[in-house]
Order: sequence, then C-alpha cells, then structure tokens
Amino acid sequence: MSKKLFKTKTTSKKSGKKSSKTPSQARNDILTCLNEIIDPFTDKDKDTVWAHFDSHCAYCDDFIERKSRNGHMDHLISKKDNGLNHISNRVLACNICNGDHKRDSAWEDFILTRKGNSKDHKERISKIKGWVSTQTLTDEEVNKLKSLRSKASELSKDVISVLDKKIEELRKLK
Ligand SMILES: [Zn+2]
Repeated sequence: MSKKLFKTKTTSKKSGKKSSKTPSQARNDILTCLNEIIDPFTDKDKDTVWAHFDSHCAYCDDFIERKSRNGHMDHLISKKDNGLNHISNRVLACNICNGDHKRDSAWEDFILTRKGNSKDHKERISKIKGWVSTQTLTDEEVNKLKSLRSKASELSKDVISVLDKKIEELRKLK
C-alpha cells in the first residue's frame, strides 16, 4: 500500500501540534451526537432561523451572506450551561459574534458589547425575545427534554469509558 493512504493530519511528536481529532474532542462528540438524537436541530429549523433574522446577525445586525458560510446557529444559552439544541434556543450569528459569545454568559449582556447605540441594542434584544416567544416549548416538553438529556449524559459516560479503554489498548500496540 502506498504511504499516502496512511497520511493523516496528525503531526510529528517533535512539533507538538495536536492531531485533527483528539480523544478529548471525540469524547465531546459522543455527547453531542447523543444529544442531537433526542434534541435535534433540523435543516428546516435552520431555514426558519435564517428567514426570521433576515440574514442579519442577531447580536450585531451585520448582514451575512448565506453562501459565505459565515452564519452560525448560535445557542442563546450555551450547551455548557445546559442550553437546548432546540430552535427556541438558536439565533443567527456572524462569525465574530459566534466566537465571542462563547466567552460570555448572558446573551442580553453580550449584545451591549456589540456596535450600535442603546436603542439598537434594545431593538435587537426585543427581536430575540420575540423570536424565542414564538418558538417556546411547554414546561412539560422542556422537562422531558431535560430528563432525556441527563439520560444521554449518563449514557455518554458509559460509551466514553469503553472508548478510553480501547484507546489504551491501541496505544499499547504502538
Ligand atoms: Zn455579529
């Protein structure tokens, strides 16, 4: 077999760079994958978000060309803070806001850090609140999703412990 077949993005030990997919990213992907089964965000949802925000970033109001791939389906409440994937928790965000928002907690406060005056900020906040209110789940639906997500989190721990064992087995063969 040619050497090329085995060429991966993994760099040499010397350079110390990380491979394209580390075990820790794989662990995160497992939980994301399980969560998406019970709490999906569909392509149709994506179209609905683009249409509602009329191709403008919900946070800074910049126009985003859909083809540019600079538009992101940002989580208002982050996944880290147990925010749902559901459309009621998603808004259109530009590259920059999507990146910056991850370092911030409350989206209302985050908007105040974006360009524009206080009237602009207020308008954006009320637009998002209006959006969330049209997509809201009932308390019962929210509770069901939350309980399924905690089940998914439990299951992911089982899968990750198997993954870790297999990684160890494989490393010993090197
Ligand atoms: Zn933005």
